[in-house]
Amino acid sequence: MNLVERDLKVIWHPYTQMKTVQPPVPIVRGEGACLFDASGKKYIDAVSSWWVNIHGHSHPYIAQKVAEQLTTLEHVIFAGFTHPAAVELAERLLAILPDNQQKAFYSDNGSTAVEVAIKMCLQYWNNQGNKRTKILAFKNAYHGDTFGAMAVSGRSAFTAAFDSLLFEVEFIDLPAKNNLQDLKSQISGLKSELACFIFEPLVQGSAGMIMYGAEYLNELMAHCRKEGVLLIADEVFTGFGRTGKRFACDHLTEKPDIMCFSKGLTGGTMALGLTTCTGQIFDAFLSDDKLKTLFHGHSFTANPIACSAALASMDLFMDAATPENIERIARAHKRFAERIKHHPKIKTVRQTGTIVAMEWETGDNTSYFSLLRDKLYYYFLDAGIILRPLGNIIYILPPYCITDADLDYIYSKIEQALEEI
Ligand SMILES: *Cc1c(COP(=O)(O)O)cnc(C)c1O
Repeated sequence: MNLVERDLKVIWHPYTQMKTVQPPVPIVRGEGACLFDASGKKYIDAVSSWWVNIHGHSHPYIAQKVAEQLTTLEHVIFAGFTHPAAVELAERLLAILPDNQQKAFYSDNGSTAVEVAIKMCLQYWNNQGNKRTKILAFKNAYHGDTFGAMAVSGRSAFTAAFDSLLFEVEFIDLPAKNNLQDLKSQISGLKSELACFIFEPLVQGSAGMIMYGAEYLNELMAHCRKEGVLLIADEVFTGFGRTGKRFACDHLTEKPDIMCFSKGLTGGTMALGLTTCTGQIFDAFLSDDKLKTLFHGHSFTANPIACSAALASMDLFMDAATPENIERIARAHKRFAERIKHHPKIKTVRQTGTIVAMEWETGDNTSYFSLLRDKLYYYFLDAGIILRPLGNIIYILPPYCITDADLDYIYSKIEQALEEI
């Protein structure tokens, strides 16, 4: 049996429909923005392997730092113990976040970073004997696949089987010029119950790379602040340069109370979650009373190997070449968007930083499971490009090291698809 046959026998892949499952592509090697299969065929990773990879695959510098850590200290319990990589990573990250972020709490991935953020907020109020227990979120939000993260995500086909078990959340529309006053009134009406507001700043990834204005989010945040509602910025996707600045919150003047990170945190090398918070949140847990403890800890909390991958990624992220690459990609995306925006098959094109998304005309069939999605997916796969359309929305968000030639190849194949599909 070859690798794919063995895989199909024993593996249950995520987000894969069982009956119509197509054999997975066997990848044996990665380099820069590209992946290679067993036959040597090259695939440009135009989605950064589910949005995690920022500096390219198998980066030699990250590999070296991880190897050094592996032979020094692979893991240690993080309750009652600490280690240099965890401390240094927290120091360096907090130094580049909004200045109200003071403490870092480690976990395993994006969903757990969100779980921690939610628990911090709910218990923040609980510890003070306050009855605020409701959470505010955006209708199309995506915050992860664990139960708490699912509950604060919009109800959709992804959550349908569990909807009756998800705790109640107040969902609001994205803010825009014409509804801002309504949203503010809605929030004011609920204020004494609302514990926190969780949002993906500027770009809602899974919803289809939906983008919304920083100025409206700012106003909404300021209003929540006025009403005592804590603010959670889920930067699991938008963090580490995706939106053109280091963090999406760098586009805002309002500061969140809590921030969530994962995906790009280790440069896409391995799983690690991080939730940061203000001193005010931390202080609500600072007590002699055992019941005021945040009882949350994963076996692999602050794993030293993951932290060292994140530190190496941080070195690369802070290097002058990275913002230059981000700028270069943003400029290229903008030119491409201008070029195709009037194409009859393009409904809309939008771009923020290194993310460009285009919506295809489909008539009235726009579901995630639409045939167009699969057609496009396999069209690009054949052409050696990994793009994963969300329904009729195609988006490109490459590793920052992608070459101009590879970027141009992706654009030209999309333009070709516009003529052929
Ligand atoms: C991907 C994502 C998550 C979940 O992260 P995982 O590491 O996949 O659990 C949470 N929030 C946002 C905004 C995401 O894009």
